[in-house]
Amino acid sequence: MSDDCLFCSIVAGDIPAERVLENDLVVAFRDIAPKAATHVLVVPRTHAPDVAALAASAPEQLAAMALAAQEIADAECGGEYKWIFNTGAGAGQTVFHAHGHVLGGDLSGSLV
Ligand code: AMP
Ligand code: ZN
Repeated sequence: MSDDCLFCSIVAGDIPAERVLENDLVVAFRDIAPKAATHVLVVPRTHAPDVAALAASAPEQLAAMALAAQEIADAECGGEYKWIFNTGAGAGQTVFHAHGHVLGGDLSGSLV
């Protein structure tokens, strides 16, 4: 756990979130400001500042995130979804604990 990390605090249960899935490796919870009908954040339990750092330090957690993203999409949006990792402040990353945005539903206004 990293001090002053919002998502470490959510993983630890110190800050509430609407959890939709969790296991030994990952936690998934609804984004507080949803941009799509389904907008869930999937995070590793251990701290890494971004997805590449996570891939280097704990690749099994990144794999678990992919499986969790698919499971959430299967349950909520027919298994079809975007999985986005904003990386770097200039790309819109605001929380520096690796997380994938699972976006599903009407994505007609989506960038890519
Ligand atoms: P990013 O901008 O890619 O770093 O994504 C961070 C996301 O965290 C944003 O979409 C925020 O809406 C979301 N967020 C911030 N605080 C919370 C919170 N307390 N619970 C759930 N989602 C949050
Ligand atoms: Zn963290």
